[in-house]
Amino acid sequence: MPNQATTRESGPPLRPTWIEVDLGAVVHNFRVAQTGVGTGVGVWPVVKANSYGLGAIPVAKALRQAGATGFCVALLEEGVALREAGIEEPVAIFSGLSGACVEQAAAMQLEPFLFEPATDLQILAAATPERPLRVHVKVDTGMGRLGVPPADVEAFLLALDRLGEQVRVVGLVSHLACADEKKRPETARQAAVLRDLLAQPEVARRKLRVSLANSAGLLGHPMTRHDWVRPGIMLYGASPFYPEEGWRETGLRPVVTWRSRIIQLHAVPAGISVSYGHSFTTSRPSRLAQIPVGYGDGYNRRLGNRGEVLIAGRRFPVVGRVCMDLITVDVTDLPAVTVGTSVTLLGADGAGMIDIEEMATWLGTIPYEVICALGTRLPRRYLRATADELAGVSSNG
Ligand SMILES: *Cc1c(COP(=O)(O)O)cnc(C)c1O
Repeated sequence: MPNQATTRESGPPLRPTWIEVDLGAVVHNFRVAQTGVGTGVGVWPVVKANSYGLGAIPVAKALRQAGATGFCVALLEEGVALREAGIEEPVAIFSGLSGACVEQAAAMQLEPFLFEPATDLQILAAATPERPLRVHVKVDTGMGRLGVPPADVEAFLLALDRLGEQVRVVGLVSHLACADEKKRPETARQAAVLRDLLAQPEVARRKLRVSLANSAGLLGHPMTRHDWVRPGIMLYGASPFYPEEGWRETGLRPVVTWRSRIIQLHAVPAGISVSYGHSFTTSRPSRLAQIPVGYGDGYNRRLGNRGEVLIAGRRFPVVGRVCMDLITVDVTDLPAVTVGTSVTLLGADGAGMIDIEEMATWLGTIPYEVICALGTRLPRRYLRATADELAGVSSNG
């Protein structure tokens, strides 16, 4: 598992580049979700793709200490990894059944979303799980991606009934297409399609647990909350509303800090060209710092001559190309730096801050991709949640 291979909780420091994951901030952000939806609505953290790159196991362990009653992943194997790490809460599997794994899913109490009736019914009919398999029917209320059309739900439920006791439909779920843009009309339309579906007698009589909201839904659209919600990105400290106006006003705490240290400093005259392709040439006598991080760690190559880093709380430009293992930073304006000086690539340093959203802007992408791209080569250090943070009395930092 990538999270196992890349987690170094002890041992001597190797090259001085690492990311810090503040589990107290993850817990705080989970509380923001819980407070947002109110009591009676379940909050199942989404820890797919190794918790968006930050480490599914440590994140899930912290959130279960904080009282999470279920989790969500994309893949069956991600669910298996949670079980192997001792996570005992129910785990929803977004991408459904994968062939021969029904027995394993049932044995491990993993709960797939079903969206492809013909295939799903065939796989389930051939399976002989010892324990009942709990499933959620996923309906496409307007996302235009995975899901059963609303008109086919009733027939699917009846067909699932005919499989007998070993398959239990416990939930009905759907996913929002445009909730991150608060004024788009599609969210209310999707909510209405779901409401109509829930009013159909064959659906209503089953008392299914209903889930529609992701982070943007639960924070921005109260009518999407239903019985349980599936927050992902907000737990990891990024606003689901970026770059909409007001995207910062979510009360979330940043989770990720990415740091390194200067490993070489050069004083050079004007007219010196830097690194592969000589894409940057000094225009004045300069001091150039080499930082041991590169696109091999997920520091995107497009940040060459575009990105900035923080040193002593101030911003300095990345000059020349981003290499696989190195970047060059122009530190001419800060005489105090030496080899070993700390460099922050993402997160806070003193009064300075490079947030995930800013890096996303530099790259023309979304915060999700910025953190999912953090390389498996980077050691991840976990700052544990304090007792106060776990108890929900953390200050808003
Ligand atoms: C990834 C995902 C989520 C979480 O979305 P965020 O925007 O990160 O909160 C919820 N539901 C489904 C089906 C997903 O694929």
